[in-house]
Amino acid sequence: MTEPTIFKRIIDGDIPAKIVFEDDLCLAFEDINPQAPTHLILIPKKEIVSIDELEEEDVPLAGHLLLVARNIAKKLGFDNGYRLLTNCGKEAGQEVMHLHFHLLAGRPFGWPPG
Ligand code: AMP
Repeated sequence: MTEPTIFKRIIDGDIPAKIVFEDDLCLAFEDINPQAPTHLILIPKKEIVSIDELEEEDVPLAGHLLLVARNIAKKLGFDNGYRLLTNCGKEAGQEVMHLHFHLLAGRPFGWPPG
């Protein structure tokens, strides 16, 4: 049996996280190693490895995640903009194999990303 990911352990309440939003489908919490003044991680509670593994049946869930991210950004007042991204696979820098979006704000972001 494979080890649960660190994010699955957060969903299950086995390790603590600074949770900023939760509903039946998803969870958002502060990144432990923030790369911006605000750096949140948004995850589905359903175990999905990455955006690559999304199925047709996950379309409503994927849309929900986008709107939750947008709502958090509005609620926290990211009026100057924010960045929402997901790393898919090793070359993109994905370290935790549970689909997640980074929601970053509070400083200017360069393009292209490193
Ligand atoms: P990625 O490289 O896209 O897989 O991003 C994984 C993110 O998870 C990184 O930004 C980590 O800092 C973050 N992270 C890892 N462990 C934890 C944790 N226990 N609580 C909050 N964030 C975490």
